[in-house]
Amino acid sequence: MERVLIIGSGPAGLTAAIYAARANLAPLVLAGGLYGGQLMLTTEVENYPGFPDGILGPDLMIKFREQAERFGARIENVDATSVDFSKKPFIVRTADEEFHAKTVIVATGASARWLEIPGEEKLRGRGVSTCATCDGAFFREKHIVVVGGGDSAMEEALFLTRFGRRVTVIHRREGLRASKIMAERSRSHPKIDFIWNTVVDEVLGEHHMTGLKLRNVHDNSVMEYEADALFIAIGHTPNTAIFQGQLDLDEMGYIVSPDGTQTNIDGVFVAGDVNDIRYKQAITAAGVGCRAAMDAERYLEAMEFEIKETVAS
Ligand code: NAP
Repeated sequence: MERVLIIGSGPAGLTAAIYAARANLAPLVLAGGLYGGQLMLTTEVENYPGFPDGILGPDLMIKFREQAERFGARIENVDATSVDFSKKPFIVRTADEEFHAKTVIVATGASARWLEIPGEEKLRGRGVSTCATCDGAFFREKHIVVVGGGDSAMEEALFLTRFGRRVTVIHRREGLRASKIMAERSRSHPKIDFIWNTVVDEVLGEHHMTGLKLRNVHDNSVMEYEADALFIAIGHTPNTAIFQGQLDLDEMGYIVSPDGTQTNIDGVFVAGDVNDIRYKQAITAAGVGCRAAMDAERYLEAMEFEIKETVAS
């Protein structure tokens, strides 16, 4: 029987693991086949306090993990495949095992979204990507397109200038959603240009991407546009498929927790991007991960106190 089982290993899950481990709860973390969350797909992180010179996303997550393990967290790189929160103890299953837990902290994050247009899937890994860190280096001296107008798109575009001879950001509106500093950096970069009010309707190419079919959203005019790579940075979808029917989700699929980290099931807590539509920062996820672990600890204390009282009376 686990006292604290944590699903997910981004900043939220691993901070919860550090706090639960330091409270002697020996948490089990089901970290996922690809542990570390979205920061594993990021380059330089410049806004995580304590790193004045910045730190690479994967390096930061290795530090989180080492810190959690140092205090006794057990971290398994496996995916949770189903849960049963209808009775206690809670059940969490992986492909090969079934775990029973008194409390669960859900920190499964949110995954990059795709455009879902013709050619996108066929040319994935052959020009089409959602991860500049992973695939940018394949496009040295090439013309690279980034889709999106948020911070992720600007971050990807700026990173890709290290490789591409030219980086074009295609955005469906005229204004950027990105923070001022990121927008200004991208707008003033000599290698970056913008195409506004335009969407990508199709990825063109047989064995590798050769271009895009673009459409102006105002007059619906269509054009073929030559480019070697397409990086999609249009936001994220919460990883909540296994919680459907178990936890309250909002219309976008994010876990609902009106009362702090507590979900609709007593003893199941949530932290990080999986219920954060607004901030989605490593530091905010870590902060809520800490709260979730402390809430789980208090819940366990109250539960154990109740059992003692019942036995005594
Ligand atoms: P986001 O802020 O939600 O931006 C998504 C962008 O993609 C928007 O510009 C949106 O257009 C566009 N978009 C959405 N669906 C589209 C579609 N089907 N076709 C074309 N365009 C589409 O997501 P994000 O950039 O991933 O950022 C998420 C959060 O993480 C934000 O709070 C951001 O500040 C934060 N973040 C911070 C950093 C950093 O500080 N270094 C880095 C990355 C992310 P519209 O604008 O028209 O809606």
